Amino acid sequence: MFLKREEIVKKIEKSIKKSERFIGEGELATYIPELANVDPNGFALSIVTTTGDVYDFGDIDTVFSMQSISKVISLIMALKDNTIQDVFEKVGTEPTKYKFNSLIPIDDKPSNPLINAGAITTASLIVGKDVDEKFQRVLNLVKKLSDSEKITFLKEVYSSEMETTDVNKSIAYYLRSKKIFSLNADEVLDLYIRNCSIGINASELAHLGAVLANGGSDLVTGDEMVSKEAVKIVLAQMASCGMYEESGEFLLNVGIPSKSGVSGAILGIVPGKCGICTYSPRLDESGNSIRGKNLLKILSNDLNLNIFL
Ligand code: GLN
Repeated sequence: MFLKREEIVKKIEKSIKKSERFIGEGELATYIPELANVDPNGFALSIVTTTGDVYDFGDIDTVFSMQSISKVISLIMALKDNTIQDVFEKVGTEPTKYKFNSLIPIDDKPSNPLINAGAITTASLIVGKDVDEKFQRVLNLVKKLSDSEKITFLKEVYSSEMETTDVNKSIAYYLRSKKIFSLNADEVLDLYIRNCSIGINASELAHLGAVLANGGSDLVTGDEMVSKEAVKIVLAQMASCGMYEESGEFLLNVGIPSKSGVSGAILGIVPGKCGICTYSPRLDESGNSIRGKNLLKILSNDLNLNIFL
């Protein structure tokens, strides 16, 4: 039974209403000073279906930095530029109970590509003659997948993080000492932070998610943008590791492969159905948006999006 557009819109509006009780809960990420310069109660939701229908709500024009959601793109790029075996020789596939920027889950290699150590590693696997060329390739992929030329580089966010990124610097140097990569550690870190500073809005990000929900193919032409093999890996890693140390609980409650970022966005991907982006910058202790994660749970229930049901 197919619902009419107005009926779907009404249903989503009801779900958004239910999420209003989480407004005001949580704190902004202040460890990157520039991330604190936003409206703490800003809110946006976008759902883009694999058939190209777009449902936008709230501050849809608000541009935020991708932060850790860029780890998904970095993994896709690493898988484009290397064999699967070569990628997973350098980075593991297991969830971790430690914080996203912890040095503990490195052991012989980072436990998965969606924590900082893992994404610094995938950044080291991206091909290009210098950091500028590598970053341009990442940016071009984001533009292509989000079907938007407006994707920007947020210089203020980048500079702000560069000034305060001692922990990531330690991680990059530690990885190099472990021979996970042999490139210049500062350059690898530079690319990682640039990736985190890509500016996007909720609708563009949901479109990017819809392409992945569509098996990596363009929503209109069906042309392959990301290989099916890479999509399969990325979604599996999002499901098991995308919400940091809350990944297991989130998968159990929500059942949607998702990736969060400390700017307050969460990207959810429902295979064969849609990409979803929530934006609400107040975070819990793990760095996940409180209203966002709860809205995804509500939507999963109300719109029947749990991949296990
Ligand atoms: N740029 C952030 C960092 O490295 C990304 C972390 C996140 O979004 N969880 O700390």
